[in-house]
Amino acid sequence: MGDDPASRVYVNNKKKACEYCGILSEEYALPYETTQEEVIDLIKTLNSRSDISGILCQLPVPKHIDEEAIINAIAPNKDVDAFHPVNVGKIMVGNYDFVPCTPAGVMELIKESGIDVSGKECVVVGRSNIVGKPQAMLLLHKNGTVTICHSRTKDLSKKTKNADILVAAVGIPNFIKGDMIKEGAVVIDVGINRMEDGTLCGDVEFDTAKDVAGAITPVPGGVGPMTIAMLMKNTVKAASVNKTK
Ligand code: NAD
Repeated sequence: MGDDPASRVYVNNKKKACEYCGILSEEYALPYETTQEEVIDLIKTLNSRSDISGILCQLPVPKHIDEEAIINAIAPNKDVDAFHPVNVGKIMVGNYDFVPCTPAGVMELIKESGIDVSGKECVVVGRSNIVGKPQAMLLLHKNGTVTICHSRTKDLSKKTKNADILVAAVGIPNFIKGDMIKEGAVVIDVGINRMEDGTLCGDVEFDTAKDVAGAITPVPGGVGPMTIAMLMKNTVKAASVNKTK
């Protein structure tokens, strides 16, 4: 909805990934003025279509639209972003079909790098519903000892320096410096911040962090492409769960 330039890039990348995977995608680019009722009507139509496996609404939505109402309108069995409260609850209890794409991408990076989370001190900086909170849950399900830090956390450096696995999802460029990281830690940078010169940068100051970290993800690259890969995985799962055509 609307013409957010970052959303345009994300939607285009998702469409390209669908094409690459052989998944049919349909885009509904709605004008800014679209009413909440109209959006929900569209979602209801897509919910009832047997040829549609998964539905996502690219966030953020315009100010006059209630984001929660939109998320709640998507049928939980087609909610490939895993933002619906039913799916959030399933993640909490550890029995889920869909995992939010960004935290799932982080877990896949950890797994593919041969890093065992069990018993490790895991620190997640950020507590959003989309990244921080589900990230903490996924690390907990892998038996990490998890600390969630946020804007009110006192003595953040002390907490981050204790992390064997540090996930930064803050939205502030270069927020985590090298001297806030434990020697040899795994550092995963979820942040995507667009700088004035148009370049992208993460929440971790890569140049100071790379010499201290045992492993570190770059921005751009790293978590971003994994998020889209996990969206594809959720969509394939949705097709099998829903037995859609
Ligand atoms: P958000 O704004 O919803 O949440 C940011 C969190 O950071 C909040 O929970 C807040 O408590 C915490 N925070 C803010 N200031 C802080 C401080 N001084 N100290 C400690 N914590 C602080 O953001 P979000 O949606 O979780 O996104 C975070 C970042 O990740 C953004 O840069 C976003 O663009 C990026 N992101 C990337 C992907 C991806 O695919 N890689 C996906 C989603 C979000």
